[in-house]
Formats: sequence, C-alpha cells, structure tokens
Amino acid sequence: MKAIHILLVSLILSVPAIDAGAQKKIRTMIATGQDGSHWWEGGCDAVRQILENTGLFTVEIIKTPARGGDMTLYKPDFSKYDLVVINYGGATWPEETREKFEKFVAGGGGVVVIHSSVIPMADWPEYNRMTGLGAWDGRDEKYGPYVYWADGKFVHDYSPGWAGHHALQRHSTIEHRNTEHPVTKGLNPVWRHFKDEIYSKLRGPAQNMEILATTWDDTKDGGSGRHEPMMWTVKYGKGKIFVTLLGHAGNDPELRYSMECTGFQETLSRGSEWAATGAVTRKAPDDFPTEHVYTLRPEFKPASR
Ligand code: ZN
Repeated sequence: MKAIHILLVSLILSVPAIDAGAQKKIRTMIATGQDGSHWWEGGCDAVRQILENTGLFTVEIIKTPARGGDMTLYKPDFSKYDLVVINYGGATWPEETREKFEKFVAGGGGVVVIHSSVIPMADWPEYNRMTGLGAWDGRDEKYGPYVYWADGKFVHDYSPGWAGHHALQRHSTIEHRNTEHPVTKGLNPVWRHFKDEIYSKLRGPAQNMEILATTWDDTKDGGSGRHEPMMWTVKYGKGKIFVTLLGHAGNDPELRYSMECTGFQETLSRGSEWAATGAVTRKAPDDFPTEHVYTLRPEFKPASR
C-alpha cells in the first residue's frame, strides 16, 4: 500500500513538470518580400520581435523573390506552421502556392494580415474572402460593399466607387465595437493610437467577418467622415484570420514608430494567438493606452515589472 501511495505521489508531482515542458510555442511564418510603399524588412523585424518577446511564438521570415523576380519560386511549406502573418505588398503568389495556402487556412491554419497586406493580390478571389475587405489594386464595387459603423451598427454600402484612401498620418482614437472577443476582452475599449497611416473606404466580400474596432476618420483630417474598421476577424473554413490596418512602416529605418505603439503591439500579439489557437492567454497590460494618452514600447516588448 505504501509503495502504491509513493508511486501516486510521485506521479502527481511529476505532472506539472511534464506539462510545462510540453507547452508548445506557436510556429509562425511571416510572409513578406515585396512592398513598394513600405519598409517591409524593418516592419517584419519589428513584428518578429513583438511576437517572440511574448514568449508564445517562434517566428521565421520567409521572403518571396524580389520585385519583378520569378514568383513561381515562392513555395513556402505552410504545413510547418500554426500561423502565417502576412506583411506583404507585392505580386500575386503563384497558383500552386495559392492553392496550398487556401488548404492551410480552410484546414484550420491561423492567419494575421497587417496594414498594407490588404492591398495586393486583388486578382485572387480567395484572398479577398480571407481579408474580408481590401484597398486599391483595382478594387471597386464589383469586389463588394464599403463597410463602416453608423448609428450603432455596421453598414454595408454598395454605392459605386474605388476602394482605398488615406489622409496624412496622424494620431487616432481606436474604439472597440466588441469588448467580449478574446482579442479585445479586458483591454481599455477606447484608446489613443500613436501616429499611423489610417486606411479607409475599403471594400470586399465582407463575409464571415466580425469587426472588433473602428476609428473616426474625420473629414477635417482629409478622411472619409466615417467610423472606419481598423481591426476585424474572418472565418474561412476551419481557419481564423485577424486583420489589423494599423502598423505602417515608412520607407527608412527611422519610420516604424506606428509599430512602437503599445496598443498595436498588444492587439497584434492577442490577434496572433487567437488566430492560431482560438484563445488569448495574455493578461491586459498595465501600460495599455487610455482614451487620451498613448504609450510606446520602442524596444517592441513589454516593460519588465
Ligand atoms: Zn502604410
């Protein structure tokens, strides 16, 4: 009896150690390599640091050939990853890669789409379905409605017109429209975002889509005069997609200040974890911005407590 008791105790004691050792990180790939308007190398480096500094992710950066190069050479093995973060503004991926990516997402793979990644590949219908809304690259009313928040609800506006607009970069106030979603739950529902390039007037299929946050795009700032979606989710088969329009990185190494915003970093980390696993384990941080005060993490990691 005593031997059995000792055996049971040792089994129970050993369980936490086994669990801790077995806790797997989210295997993440950043898809990048071209973007005529953004310093994608610096943006990807920041995203890698932001994710890895949470301790939840391992990140590899997988680049396409350079602009104008032979795109048929771009054949990442998506099956090696739990999550694909797209930070890309270039030529449409080759057909074989598109089909593999569609299978990856439909089969339950996670996807995060950052800022200018809503612009490329308008000629790939499944990419438009995955992103929900897109901008420029020839998009117009044939691609789907404009979507914005008015009078307490989201409006699908089918009036004709081009997709995509931005005014001068500026500070903005982000308003959460769903405070119970794992990505936003527990965070200040209204917060000040540091200087960024705010996209508006996007259009797309907007199916299986849930908008998490908007910002007021004032006409006096050259904006659309609408509450424009800034973060949303899309379900695609078994896969989950998190889109954030925040996170502009300009054309030189000094110009990734938008990514230094704590609000961007925290929502990106949470959106990435949710897209990969369906849950968010991160607690709301003490330094999250408030309605009137932005906060920055220039080292791309939370301050040590
Ligand atoms: Zn930009």
